[in-house]
Amino acid sequence: MMAPYSGGCGCGAIRYTVTSEPLISYLCHCTECQRRTSSAFGLNLQIPTENLVIEQGTPASRTRSADSGNELVLNFCSDCGTSLFSVPSARPQIRVVYAGTLDDPSWVPVKLNIWADSALPWVHMDPSIDKISGQPNMADYIGKV
Ligand SMILES: [Zn+2]
Ligand SMILES: [Zn+2]
Repeated sequence: MMAPYSGGCGCGAIRYTVTSEPLISYLCHCTECQRRTSSAFGLNLQIPTENLVIEQGTPASRTRSADSGNELVLNFCSDCGTSLFSVPSARPQIRVVYAGTLDDPSWVPVKLNIWADSALPWVHMDPSIDKISGQPNMADYIGKV
């Protein structure tokens, strides 16, 4: 697979295109990813802001505090509730796309496990991948893992 990648919410009201390869992609075991996925972890990827193009619809948003203490603006579909991406207030040049909303997320590589301290006890993490207890400085890993 090569960019662009298409994705959208569950009801089809919102469609988007990712126009570059991810800077990094990872599993996030933070409590908010557990809550927003209603599951064990999130599969997230980061891209430059200009590489996320909303093709159809307008996401609703709410501001929340991340486990790191930073604020994030979570963007979701107000019709079906699917969480699509977030904007970290500390890094507005980045979009964190929730990769499960891609039409085909199968190509997304797992480069890191983050917030490993709050991972559910039965989650198996690949020992060959860096495991970080909380929030890393992603700049330390982009292009290096
Ligand atoms: Zn929807
Ligand atoms: Zn998370």
